[in-house]
Amino acid sequence: MIECVSCNAKYDDNEVIYNCKECGSVLEVVVDIDKSDVPRETFDCRKDVLWKYKEFMPVDETKIVSLDEGGTPFCKCNKLGEKLGIDLYVKVEGSNPTGSFKDRGMSVGMTKAMELGVDTVGCASTGNTSASLAAYAARAGLRCVVLLPSGKVALGKLAQAMFHGAEVLSVNGNFDEALETVTALALEKHLYLLNSINPYRLEGQKSIGFEVVHELGWKSPDRIVLPVGNAGNISAIWKGITEFHNAGYIEDLPMMTGIQAEGAAPIANSFRKNTMDMVPVQDPETIATAIRIGAPVSSIKALRAIYDSNGYAETVNDDEILAAQLDLARYEGIGVEPASAASIAGVKKLVEEGVVDKGEQVVCIVTGHLLKDPNTAINACTEPIEIDADVEALKKILLNK
Ligand SMILES: *Cc1c(COP(=O)(O)O)cnc(C)c1O
Ligand SMILES: [Zn+2]
Repeated sequence: MIECVSCNAKYDDNEVIYNCKECGSVLEVVVDIDKSDVPRETFDCRKDVLWKYKEFMPVDETKIVSLDEGGTPFCKCNKLGEKLGIDLYVKVEGSNPTGSFKDRGMSVGMTKAMELGVDTVGCASTGNTSASLAAYAARAGLRCVVLLPSGKVALGKLAQAMFHGAEVLSVNGNFDEALETVTALALEKHLYLLNSINPYRLEGQKSIGFEVVHELGWKSPDRIVLPVGNAGNISAIWKGITEFHNAGYIEDLPMMTGIQAEGAAPIANSFRKNTMDMVPVQDPETIATAIRIGAPVSSIKALRAIYDSNGYAETVNDDEILAAQLDLARYEGIGVEPASAASIAGVKKLVEEGVVDKGEQVVCIVTGHLLKDPNTAINACTEPIEIDADVEALKKILLNK
């Protein structure tokens, strides 16, 4: 069953619907499972991928479209953690098949598309959604149309979308405008929309929450921190964690903490005013293109997750994001794209502000791979030194240092 998060209107699972017909709000798929039906041991001996939690995935098991997404590394970061005075873990979502967590959502979303029997899928994207959709559409054998904001998509993501055979359209406008356009096309039934307004996307992404608490030995961390753009992922992770809580698998809940870029911070602005109302940011701007979004479609779900979990929302600027990206790469060997590093930059700021307590167990979700945005990475470094292929020349340089 699909339910409106605002007025609780109910819709059939097989209705193609993106917004509530009664009130226009966003929808979610209702999943209600108890440990007496599915004991948590069920998941222990299965292959470590998203579908090991298939009982919680409300789609037809015989239609699964998968690239073995999920089961991503969960790394303890002792050096950075010590610097910050916290117990720090990162969930490395860049290790998914196309290099971001979007693959989790796309696997379940594409499975739903097969169940519905559609022939064309589409999305608007800051990059990663299109890269993921293109790959999963290829695997499913469906036509794929993606709308990208012109000139604002990182190189690796663009390469993926094109190479997997999507019809790529470059829109003169920002992400929010591209999403509005493609949504109108979807409402006229020209394509099945796989942006995170589609509640089945979030069903896949909630598995990040499943994996985190499972990996901690069926315990919730004190806090989960992640970058927030369109606000689907924070909503999804909270949904997953509350489902495991309701099932009786875990006792505690984490403080959901969303980090936005200073130039694209509608959710953090609402949090500061302690309101559920979200005022869109007109011209969002940040180097973290994956979260360059002014009117997040899942703002209601995200703000609920933050308020209900006693969580927090904060902003970081581009310099702080780039510094955190470099810290993660140099101290821990973990390469992430700028948006992902917003989580680390945010934790640092919240420790300084005293919001995050010393010794807290914090899990940062690092959402996408370093190679997604090679230009930003190269720009942060000095050029390699050129030498002749000669051992004396080599020694001169290395021994001088
Ligand atoms: C999509 C994306 C985000 C933002 O997630 P939302 O669900 O839109 O809030 C953050 N980082 C990366 C790398 C992404 O691809
Ligand atoms: Zn409604």
